[in-house]
Amino acid sequence: MSNLFIAVEVSPDVASDAEVAAKLAEVCPVDIYAVGEGGSVRIVEDNLDECVLCRLCIDAAPAGSVKVRKLYDGGAL
Ligand code: SF4
Repeated sequence: MSNLFIAVEVSPDVASDAEVAAKLAEVCPVDIYAVGEGGSVRIVEDNLDECVLCRLCIDAAPAGSVKVRKLYDGGAL
């Protein structure tokens, strides 16, 4: 895919936390997060460009563990 404008990063220690995975899957309005195998966080790449920069994922996860980056101006949300 060549037109990605958003990158989502979840720190590894949190990415394997089933509780966080479930929470992220619940809060993101455009389903960028899913619960993957073993309860880990799975990023749904196909939905990344639907991100509305609402910050719900950032607020739902432990501080600093989720980053949403806007690739088009190099900025972090
Ligand atoms: S900022 Fe909002 S839309 Fe974007 S990934 Fe986080 S919860 Fe989903």
